[in-house]
Amino acid sequence: MIWNNEETYSRSEMQALQLDRIRKTVDYIYGKNPYYRKKLDELKVRPEDIRSLDDIRRLPLTTKQDIRDNYPFQLFTAPREDIVEYHATSGTTGKPVVVGYTRQDLETWKEVMARALTGAGITKDDIIQNIYGYGLFTGGIGVHYGSIQIGAGVIPISGGNTQRQLMLLEDFGSTVLTSTPSFLMHLHEAGEEAGIDFHKLKLRVGVLGAEPWSEAMRHQIEDKFGIKACDIYGLSEIIGPGVAFECIEKQHGLHINEDYFYPEIIDPQTCEVLPEGEAGELVFTTLTNQGQPLFRFRTRDITRLTYGTCICGRTTVMMERVTGRSDDMLIIRGVNVFPSQIESVILKRQGVSPHYMIIVERKGAMDSLRVKVEVTEDFMVKAAADILKGDEFDILEDVAAVRSKKRNLQQDIKDMIGISVEIQLVPPNSIARSEGKAKRIEDRRPN
Ligand SMILES: [Zn+2]
Repeated sequence: MIWNNEETYSRSEMQALQLDRIRKTVDYIYGKNPYYRKKLDELKVRPEDIRSLDDIRRLPLTTKQDIRDNYPFQLFTAPREDIVEYHATSGTTGKPVVVGYTRQDLETWKEVMARALTGAGITKDDIIQNIYGYGLFTGGIGVHYGSIQIGAGVIPISGGNTQRQLMLLEDFGSTVLTSTPSFLMHLHEAGEEAGIDFHKLKLRVGVLGAEPWSEAMRHQIEDKFGIKACDIYGLSEIIGPGVAFECIEKQHGLHINEDYFYPEIIDPQTCEVLPEGEAGELVFTTLTNQGQPLFRFRTRDITRLTYGTCICGRTTVMMERVTGRSDDMLIIRGVNVFPSQIESVILKRQGVSPHYMIIVERKGAMDSLRVKVEVTEDFMVKAAADILKGDEFDILEDVAAVRSKKRNLQQDIKDMIGISVEIQLVPPNSIARSEGKAKRIEDRRPN
């Protein structure tokens, strides 16, 4: 299902709209934003120099640090009295990154979120249990706005509260879950313990995002909950969730709302724009934002773009599901490693669960990688029962099973990333569960 006609524009219609919008944006920013005005002057770019979409490459790149350096409001382009909502990302170090929205920006946000929810097949008949966090984080409020826009019923339960989540799922008959994938895995475990049969609930769709997740994780979630799971992508600096989304028809690649956010792929090292189809870092220029419009914001997310018409009818450019972040990327002995690569291997093997932690250590001069993985409840119960029975043959068989699991995982991961890792199998529930974004990496190397 498609929300808006603009999602099916021909390439030339889309490009004409984008060019018109970028020219207005450059004009607006140059006139009102001293930070960018100085940058443009340094680059000797005047608003009238933007004559084609390729001229966007002449605009300066913007990083998260640039926004932080202008904390809290120096990058706002709209006057303070026109800002009607503020958000901020949780700063891992120091000050957060602040975003301000005008009324028109909120209209944009509602529009792109309405498209995303509609793309996942959600209508006004649905009840959305919105597990994304409400507050300064944009996840919860973004889904909330989109939900109201399409007329669905939204339950603003926010994150955490596992037991209450389960109660509302059963009692309210929620048909849609919007959440991080890692929290859904946690919710499913808790539900199983409470004896809930998820396939008997009214759930039918999940709109999942806010952290990279793999295709294998999608299959697990779809099986466990009996739903279709669609990926959603966004970032607070650009608008929040709704920058791009998967359609339920294809569930492969995310449609970018490119009439609002102009995408480019650059080489993260040289910052050169890469040709169509090549993987690199995703960069966005906002085309209509007023509160804090940004030129060529570096997302750090690694993906590639493809143009064409999707089976759903949309013609908007598609980005491949994000496989990792250029700053989450681990460099181990010169090799680039993404947690999602290791996750996809773990999810394929029987007897281990998708709860894992990657630990990077330095032993002598060498970096080493250790992956802690939980064995499943079933496997643990059988092994414990064999030990209690004291049957030596069965115990030896269990020990052999542990060894072969470790060996297989080790080999699969080595095949995937090209370097050796140590596998540590641990009991179920021994790795801390997150109620938001999952933490998968512990980098213990000295800086
Ligand atoms: Zn599609």
